[in-house]
Amino acid sequence: MGEESIVAKTSLIQAIRGMNDILPDEIPVWQYLESILQALMRAYAYQEIRTPILEETALFKRSVGEITDIVEKEMYTFLDRNGDSLSLRPEGTASCMRACLEHGLVYHQVQRLWYVGPMFRHERPQKGRYRQFYQFTAECLGVAEPSIDVELILLTSRLWKHLGLSSCLEFQLNSLGLLPERENYKKVLVTYFSSRLSELDEDSQRRLKTNPLRILDSKNPEMQSCIAGAPVLSDHLGEVSQAHFHQVKTLLDKAGVAYRVNPRLVRGLDYYSHTVFEWVTTQLGAQGTVCAGGRYDSLAQQLGGMAVPGVGFSMGLERIIALLISEGLYLVSPQVDVYLLYQGGAAVEEALLLAETIHNRLPELRLLRDGSGGKLTHQFKRADKSGAVLALILGEQESRDKTITIKFLRQDKPQITLAQDKLIYFLEEQSWKIS
Ligand code: ATP
Ligand code: MG
Repeated sequence: MGEESIVAKTSLIQAIRGMNDILPDEIPVWQYLESILQALMRAYAYQEIRTPILEETALFKRSVGEITDIVEKEMYTFLDRNGDSLSLRPEGTASCMRACLEHGLVYHQVQRLWYVGPMFRHERPQKGRYRQFYQFTAECLGVAEPSIDVELILLTSRLWKHLGLSSCLEFQLNSLGLLPERENYKKVLVTYFSSRLSELDEDSQRRLKTNPLRILDSKNPEMQSCIAGAPVLSDHLGEVSQAHFHQVKTLLDKAGVAYRVNPRLVRGLDYYSHTVFEWVTTQLGAQGTVCAGGRYDSLAQQLGGMAVPGVGFSMGLERIIALLISEGLYLVSPQVDVYLLYQGGAAVEEALLLAETIHNRLPELRLLRDGSGGKLTHQFKRADKSGAVLALILGEQESRDKTITIKFLRQDKPQITLAQDKLIYFLEEQSWKIS
């Protein structure tokens, strides 16, 4: 069978639903955001950690919680060839804590860490909600006192200022207290919701028996008035929890960060205690939480480790990028300074070597060599589209004369022709206009 007939019968394979390609044109805004985040982490002396994308399923069952949306219905879980149950990570905190416990990084020492990468959840894909999405996370492990909760919040607040997003985000704060307090509160909550059973959707009726606090996190609009009438956890907090919460609020006041206490803010994961928070926008429709976090002092023990207090936040990068774009806060800038065109047999080799010489002498200059050697008019169109300010032309004439023609693409100036060995000096002089 000829190759052609095989090719003709093959249908085009597409990406998995809810898993996005990030195309070259979109990359600059991702790099912009990531570079700002990295600089911020450097400034606060947080260190990067990288953990595997696959973990034992038990890690997430124990940390995120068996009766959470994530573990119940969103995880990509499968048996590998050895029959072990593995899961694609749905979030990063569990892996980060596992790694720190495994390598003794939290034994009598503090770790300030960050990481960025894809997370996987089998949710219904929609704007701002994907099956593979990127999270940026910062965590501080080993400090129990509230100033570290506030340090992390200040970090996020500084990020929004830097990005120009402060005015479109609201900061919501709550305290989940300690486990025994939540246990008491659960009983009150169950009594309340049981008395309004007919108003609960199917999920919430099930949660009533398994994890009633999670009812408060329901996104179902029809449930909101029932949730709004529910008793609040803050009435059940003991002295220690109240003091922690009070200190967080006092420090936020002192640092000038505005907050709204949302007494019904719970998080979709089981490991939180004390402080929980979210940064929310109304600009992105239903998927309005761009950053969420909190304290998780019992996580390390849930994973079988020693007691290690922790606090952190995660942000959804797709949502922040959507916000930057919708607010007009990121303008795409050209990726090319100088575009090299060539035509004629000998010019192929000359253009390639000339480009190398330019890269050697001017390593910062962004040079694109047209790879086609085709019609100059076509090459000029591409040069113009690239955003370059200068076009360098190596045609047959130039090749014979050892010259190069320079065309100013963004200025109303006549083109010039120079000896090739003068080109670098010329570009050096121009560099202030180029980069
Ligand atoms: P949501 O309430 O939107 O479902 P969540 O409580 O499940 O969010 P977290 O697990 O706290 O979210 O994740 C932190 C952040 O990651 C969220 O605030 C959001 O910005 C982002 N995020 C979570 N799930 C998705 C997703 N499926 N697609 C894109 N971003 C997501
Ligand atoms: Mg969710």
